[in-house]
Amino acid sequence: MKYSQFNSILPYNGSLALYNSFQQKVLFLENELNDLLQAARAEGIDILGNYHPDFYNYLKDNRFIIEDDINELEEVKKKSKSVDETQEEFVLTINPTMNCNFKCWYCYETHIKDSRLEVTVMDSINLLVNKICSKPELKTLTLAFFGGEPLLYFKKNVIPIVDHVVEVCEKYDKEFTISFTTNGYLTDDYFIEYFRKKNLNIHLQITFDGYKEEHDEVRFVSKTKGSYDEIIKNIRKLLSYDNFTIKARINYTDKNIHNCHKIVDDFADIIEKIDKNKLMFDYHRVWQNDQLDDTSKFLDENSKKMQEKGFMTHVHYSPNNVNDSCYADKRNSVVVNYNGDIYKCTARDFVPKDRAGYLSEDGELIWNDGYIEKRMDSKFNNKPCLSCRIMPLCNGGCSQHAIENLGGDGYCVYHGDEQQKSNVILAKIDEIVNAPQEV
Ligand code: SF4
Ligand code: SF4
Repeated sequence: MKYSQFNSILPYNGSLALYNSFQQKVLFLENELNDLLQAARAEGIDILGNYHPDFYNYLKDNRFIIEDDINELEEVKKKSKSVDETQEEFVLTINPTMNCNFKCWYCYETHIKDSRLEVTVMDSINLLVNKICSKPELKTLTLAFFGGEPLLYFKKNVIPIVDHVVEVCEKYDKEFTISFTTNGYLTDDYFIEYFRKKNLNIHLQITFDGYKEEHDEVRFVSKTKGSYDEIIKNIRKLLSYDNFTIKARINYTDKNIHNCHKIVDDFADIIEKIDKNKLMFDYHRVWQNDQLDDTSKFLDENSKKMQEKGFMTHVHYSPNNVNDSCYADKRNSVVVNYNGDIYKCTARDFVPKDRAGYLSEDGELIWNDGYIEKRMDSKFNNKPCLSCRIMPLCNGGCSQHAIENLGGDGYCVYHGDEQQKSNVILAKIDEIVNAPQEV
């Protein structure tokens, strides 16, 4: 037997936690057991079977130790392929426009005034939806609106597509979900009533750039008009209806992190009246601000303060990039831009030179030569990841990271910082420890 390459032992709440990032299991060890384990690692793990058969068998059954001839890396690759090649789901993301009513300094997208879906492209999208839904293997169509601000032309460009998706999914008996990544400024009565009348459940991701003052400095409608108060008002209203679930994405930096926890105070009076699962605060660091510093300490403090007040939070310490990879990693995913160009990833510019292909008039996805296979084969080529203890969780980030670094010297999304990797593990252990118990 051998010790799994995906094990880590870390101090956790006064005890020692043995965690395996592939099995996503944790075992809390007494000091004596840890001493025994370390001695066995030095002398050959099989010896543990003589000294403590129960412990040995437990480690074996839970795959903290494995047969010598098992290639764990190959097992992770196999798992990753099965997730990324699934035919059961299709993620269709649509950018109805590249225009936006805000101008955030870090916005990576190039806003294009007057850009919006043309009727011909909408027709092609509907034909694409027909093709996707008619596949017998498909179980769920995930429809996501992105942009630009996707609610700018809601009536003319979004509603016809939603109506078509609902009709086709009903015809082929497929499940579907609908989501919007929006700045939260245009979720007006018309928007609410449309989905209420149709009895559709809608998921919205709405961004904050810190608490009011910091947010308004970044996200404004005009020099004198911020957007924080309006967004809070809109979210409060959405939450008063059962149809809407909100992920409040907090884009934090080393500067704005300190006051972020105050955002929940603007919902303090309604948290007891709503389903807590309908509002989640999800922290993401602004990537241009992603240097090594002690911001993660303040992040944890902020998140804890929110949780203590009864709100759900998620810090981006807890990746699950193999079992739950990004939609862009999956073969069955596409982003259709307003002009019919197609892409995979929503975190890069939608510029014509970087398009991955186009949507044909008859609703066929025409990928650039070799593009899809190159993307699907891009993972597991980064040397540092292959021997990393958290590879089954992190896997080098995503296919976009992988493809941009193909043929390079090797990279690490945590800058090779072992403490940050340990933080990922500690967050995972927290999740296991705090998971609701089944009764
Ligand atoms: S950058 Fe990576 S994780 Fe983000 S959308 Fe693109 S592929 Fe997905
Ligand atoms: S990017 Fe870094 S942390 Fe992630 S799997 Fe690779 S080496 Fe490990």
